[in-house]
This record gives sequence, structure tokens and C-alpha cells, in this order.
Amino acid sequence: MSQARIDLVRARLAEHGVDALIVNRYENRRWLSGVRAHDASPTATAGWLIVTPDAALFVTSFLYYGAAVVEADGVEVVEIPQDQRLHETAAEQLRRLGAKRVGFEEAWLTVQTHRELREKLAGAAELVPIHKAVVDQLRAVKDERELASIRHAVALSDAAMEALFGELKPGMTEKEAAWFLEAHMRQHGADGMAFGPDVASGPNGAVPHHTPTDRAIQVGEPIWIDTGAVVDGYHSDVTRTVLLGRPDEQYRRLWHEVLEAQKRVIDFLRPGRGGTEADALAREYLGSVGLADAFKHGLGHGVGLQIHELPRLSRFADEDAKLASGMTVTVEPGAYLDGWGGVRHEELTVLTDDGVEVLTRAPKPFTL
Ligand code: ZN
Ligand code: ZN
Repeated sequence: MSQARIDLVRARLAEHGVDALIVNRYENRRWLSGVRAHDASPTATAGWLIVTPDAALFVTSFLYYGAAVVEADGVEVVEIPQDQRLHETAAEQLRRLGAKRVGFEEAWLTVQTHRELREKLAGAAELVPIHKAVVDQLRAVKDERELASIRHAVALSDAAMEALFGELKPGMTEKEAAWFLEAHMRQHGADGMAFGPDVASGPNGAVPHHTPTDRAIQVGEPIWIDTGAVVDGYHSDVTRTVLLGRPDEQYRRLWHEVLEAQKRVIDFLRPGRGGTEADALAREYLGSVGLADAFKHGLGHGVGLQIHELPRLSRFADEDAKLASGMTVTVEPGAYLDGWGGVRHEELTVLTDDGVEVLTRAPKPFTL
């Protein structure tokens, strides 16, 4: 499996004008090599994968070497000597391989590491920033095994959401609700959280990315809940908006209009359509019902080894990028009003040959 993926990268080296690529982003490296070692940050990396037309090396320290040898699929694992740092060993290997133009993923390499690596390669090779995310684009299309992991993660977050609906009551704090979700997913086998579960009640929900607080949930206010699990490295992502007690007219209007925008997009999505078009469709609909300014974020994103990955459904999506069968993408329009709160509905979908399949199945109650 890894061999076929690495060959896809090899086929793209020439079009980027390089004869080697350093895959320095964790998720990309994992997808290509099978090695699960995780980076805490771009400066605390567990290793780099070097791909050339003839070689594929995973350069890593003794901390990860033993596990990497077991997990590596189709790549050779090179251990960094005790007296060297990652960029030094990588530079040695690139010199040995005769690389002249070495691409790297510019979104995940610090300026400092770039300078250090450039100095070690001086006279031998030149570094070429790869702006168009090569591996990210390949990863956007999921195979059946990846989809099975995503479906499993979705089932865990759906079940946690449904269980929370049975527990939510006035006086429960946002943090307590978030912990309930986390504990539920963990108890049922999640490897981790896709992100800290987010529960936003009343006015706190007026910002699309909130951090749960000690605020007690009250009757008659919108509550949006955004959560996801991780299984085998793959994420899920789902948002529901509910209200305890009797809804006001504002809630009724926003809840249904945001749902209508979401339905229109789900009907629209199919291979060949673009992320900017999908985003515009939701934006136009919400604009037509007076909610243009209330929809403050992009419409959706791919979900896989990363919680946010390609493709993007957004004004900032690559104009040329078209959706393809096997891509996962969320559809998550929202409407946010300062002082009142917000409504967001988020489904995770996978593109099929002629539309989408909605993976998320959590119930979507208007009120509880
Ligand atoms: Zn979400
Ligand atoms: Zn999302």
C-alpha cells in the first residue's frame, strides 16, 4: 500500500522541479510510510521521510527507531547517530543520494530548520519550497480502509452526542458536557479526541470556535456542540445545535435556515464540483434570508489523518480544485449573532460517484 502511495509522489517530483522531497509533515509521512510516530510541533518532529525516484528513507531518532522499523511499509528506516541532529543526518543522506533540488513542505518547516538544513546542504543541493501540498492532495481521496476508520470514529462521536442529549439539563456547565462527550468516546474505544469537545451555550456560542467554560447551561438558549473522535489516526467531526425548553422565534428561524443551507449544499455536492462554488451556494442562500453577515466561517473541510485537511469548501479554496469520489468533506454552515449565540449544523460526508453519502448519523433534535 505504501509503495503505491510513494510511487504517486514520485510521479509528481518532476512537475515540481525537484529530484527529492522531504515529507516533513507528520500526517503525510504517516500516510506514505505507515510509521505512526507523531510530531508534537514542527520543532519537535519525530522524523522526516525522504522520497527520491529510487529511494524512500525515514530518518528518525533512537526514540522512535524500534517502533518505526516494525511499522515501516516500503521505506527504509535510518537512525540518527547520537552525535547528530535530524537535519544533519537528512543532509548526509540527500548528499549520498545525489539530490540536487530538494523539495520540502513549506507549511510545516520552521525558518530556523530551513536555515540549518540549507547550511548543511550548501554546495550540494538547493532547497525548494513546495507550496502546492503534494501529499495533502493525494491524501484527500480515501481508500476503503481509511473510510472504515473514519466510519468507526463517526460512530463513536455520534453515540456520544446522542448520549449527551439524554444528560443535558439546566445547570450543567459547558465543561461538564464536554467531559461527558470525551469520557463517552474514550470508554467506547476512541484512541483520542479529534479536538477538545466544544460546547457553547447562549451568548458564548456567538463565536464559531469557543472553549468550554464553567458557564451553566440555561433553558431557552441555543447550545451548539461540536465534537469528534480519533480511531487509527483518523478523525470524525459533527456539530449539533439544541435548546432546552421553549425556543424563541430567533432560534426557530436560524435553526431551520442553517439546516436549509446545509441541505442545499449536500444536494449540490458531487465529483467535479468546486469548493468555492459550494461555499458560495450556502453563502447566497443565507444571504437571501438576511443572514449573510451571520455566517462567518468557511463551509467545510476534509477530514482524515488531520481534522482539517483538503478539500476545502471555502472562499479560499483553490479555484481549480474539484471534488472527487472518495474525498471526505464536512458541510457546516452556521449563523452567529453577538449577544445571543449561534447555530451550526455539521455533517461529515464522503463523495460518491454521483453525490455524497452522509456519514454522520447523530440525531438532530430541534429542542430537548
Ligand atoms: Zn466540527
Ligand atoms: Zn468541522
